[in-house]
Amino acid sequence: MRSRFIIAIDGPAGAGKSTVARQLARRLRYRFLDSGALYRTVTLAALRAGLSPGDEEQVAALARTLDIRLEGGPDDPRVLLGGDDVSAEIRGPAVSNAVSTVAALARVREAMVPLQKGIAADGGVVAEGRDIGTVVFPDADVKFYLDADPAERARRRADERGEADVESVRREIVSRDRDDTDRDVAPLCAAADAVRVDTTALTLGEVVARLAAEIEGRMGSAS
Ligand code: C5P
Repeated sequence: MRSRFIIAIDGPAGAGKSTVARQLARRLRYRFLDSGALYRTVTLAALRAGLSPGDEEQVAALARTLDIRLEGGPDDPRVLLGGDDVSAEIRGPAVSNAVSTVAALARVREAMVPLQKGIAADGGVVAEGRDIGTVVFPDADVKFYLDADPAERARRRADERGEADVESVRREIVSRDRDDTDRDVAPLCAAADAVRVDTTALTLGEVVARLAAEIEGRMGSAS
């Protein structure tokens, strides 16, 4: 077993993955790997280039040429595209509406896997996404699948964005989850060996404590 773990956190939008992953990374002094940011950045580049988000050949060819870097620590993660900070732009509605189409393209996903494996080459990573425990790091040391009621997930996302229209956020995430779950390649699903946590009625602190206890227990039995 690695001395520095790879921790995989998967689940639908708004389940709390990102906040929890960042807190765990800070606590363990690990890197935080936001895989959604990679798909969002490819989507941004495709939209900027005027490509159709579903055009596999063109979007994958573009994805292979991109210089995408995840920088900063868990407190200030930044995404650089060709050296420019695109962290804010990749969270905007244009990218959010098109990202699931881009993320369903097999050859785009293929191009993103080496990047993620490179970041975790020495372990010491908390990675979050949709296929981390199933496809990217099937041998992760600890896997979690976080979920919550759609209404609660929408409320959290709307809060984060300062968006008053919770119902439109709910529609956006339900539609994105459906696309992510129904796709043929690397669909959103829990790994058979993932610890499932329903975060609907839990505070952030309670979720972090639950995951940290699981991780620390496994670290204790590994040493
Ligand atoms: O995590 P986030 O909401 O930023 O992810 C945006 C989108 O990127 C997801 O809805 C999904 O379509 C895609 N994604 C993915 N695989 C991952 C992470 C994100 O397909 N590992």
